[in-house]
Amino acid sequence: MAATLWLLGDQLSEHYPIFSESAQPEGLQILMIESAARLARLPYHRKKLVLLVGAMYHRAQSLREEKYVVDFRSGSDMPSALSAHLEAYHPDRLIMIKANSQRGRFFQKSLVGGLGIPVEILPNTHFLCQRVTPLPDVGPDEDVRQETFYRAMRRRFGLLVDEDGRPLGGQWNFDKQNRQPLPTDANLSAPVRFAPDETTNQVIERFRRDEQGFGWSDGFNLGVTPGEAERAAEDFFNNRLVHFGSYEDAMSRDHAVLYHSKLALYLNLGLLDPLELARRAEAAYLDGRVTINNAEGFIRQVIGWREYMFWQYERLMPELAQENALQAERPLPGFFWTGDTDMNCLKHVLQRVIQDGYAHHIERLMLLSNFCTLAGIRPGAVLNWFQSVFIDAYEWVMVPNVMGMGLYADGGRIGTKPYISSANYINKMGNYCGDCRYDKNQRTGEEACPFNFLYWGFLLRHEARLRENPRMARMLSNLKFLDDDERKRVQQDVEKFLSHDLQC
Ligand code: FAD
Ligand code: SF4
Repeated sequence: MAATLWLLGDQLSEHYPIFSESAQPEGLQILMIESAARLARLPYHRKKLVLLVGAMYHRAQSLREEKYVVDFRSGSDMPSALSAHLEAYHPDRLIMIKANSQRGRFFQKSLVGGLGIPVEILPNTHFLCQRVTPLPDVGPDEDVRQETFYRAMRRRFGLLVDEDGRPLGGQWNFDKQNRQPLPTDANLSAPVRFAPDETTNQVIERFRRDEQGFGWSDGFNLGVTPGEAERAAEDFFNNRLVHFGSYEDAMSRDHAVLYHSKLALYLNLGLLDPLELARRAEAAYLDGRVTINNAEGFIRQVIGWREYMFWQYERLMPELAQENALQAERPLPGFFWTGDTDMNCLKHVLQRVIQDGYAHHIERLMLLSNFCTLAGIRPGAVLNWFQSVFIDAYEWVMVPNVMGMGLYADGGRIGTKPYISSANYINKMGNYCGDCRYDKNQRTGEEACPFNFLYWGFLLRHEARLRENPRMARMLSNLKFLDDDERKRVQQDVEKFLSHDLQC
């Protein structure tokens, strides 16, 4: 008799301790389940479905090559597939690795004591903050800010710090160097593409025929194995890290990825390790291949933001997913699913999302969620949309990003203020406005950019609440330039736009 190790779809790492420490292939059989109910929970992007299922098939194959017995089950749901496995394979124990999502963890716990065999849940090693708890310098205080958390992580893992824990380069962040728009002569290198093999092609074909998904599976060119994920990482370190920090806030009508890594999709499946990536960025700086602002910018994203979001998810769920501090109640506009809007910036980004399930961070934050915050779209609807359409979306990362950073629906427990802007910022950091049907410079009127009147309308609507936040003082101080007539016009334009122009 052997024990069964049940690997979830986002548990594809080759480096789980269980593979090296205790078990030999003879003593361990592997269970992987493709559950139809799970894949249909939301209208997921077809490329996400291909990525997930394709990567699971490839992982099963590589485990078989290592002489493990692998039971790969396609079933209607997890419980029935698990029962079928237990009946067919008679394991003497069920071993699982603690799931990333709370929903997964509840299910895992519910199995303990109910299967007639011992159930063991191993620690989750996906996140660095789980590998070392508690983090030094970060107390139990509910309101630990990202910057405090990030510095503790840098010190704890000895990344870009000297022996006394002081930051290399003399400062913790290089935001001032990192807020540059993209130069017109930027020399951009598109991320490496992978031609699908026969297995992946079969998955593509299946989801192409499938009615339930969103977006297109055609043109799938992502990696589905640890080797391909590693080549994608190498491509990033060789070609894009060099300007990652400098242009991480830049947006472009013409380019989707710019200098971003496009590695979250692999990290979130366990195909890459966050600490290893952070160490490679540090090495690139120490070897003189990139400047510190670019290395630090990337390290901050990976061990700062990514880990902080998971840490907050752990602390604030399940309430976080239900928050609606700004009482936003509007439905999500239909154009989020079609890209059919006259707002040029949103149109470009949405069309890319429909095509590839990817938009970089600033587009997610300062275009998509900025619009939803200003327009007062119901957070639950925004969350479902984000979870559906992105190739790297999983509950643990979406909920804190959308409810906290994106929409301020948590009232400021994750982000320190709402991330909102008018057309001014969008035009400064991107090049969509030039040929837009709207005028970026007009605040009100027929031609005015909706980001403008929505922005001012938002400040007026939430002024009392926002005044309690000192970080909003500068934004709010500009309200003094709006006289009563202009305030009325703003409110009328908001009303008209939301009730007539914004087709839901
Ligand atoms: P890069 O810009 O190259 O950044 C490097 C890495 O840092 C990323 O791969 C990612 O692992 C990590 N990272 C950076 N910022 C964050 C963050 N805020 N939270 C978590 N990880 C971060 N990230 C996801 O992985 N899945 C999501 O579903 C997701 N949804 C988001 C929704 C909203 C509203 C916002 C504001 C952010 C979201 N993010 C999400 C975070 C971030 O936008 C993506 O990780 C990033 O855009 C992925 O592209 P990349 O790999 O090119 O990232
Ligand atoms: Fe977007 Fe407004 Fe610029 Fe048009 S004018 S691209 S809607 S910010």
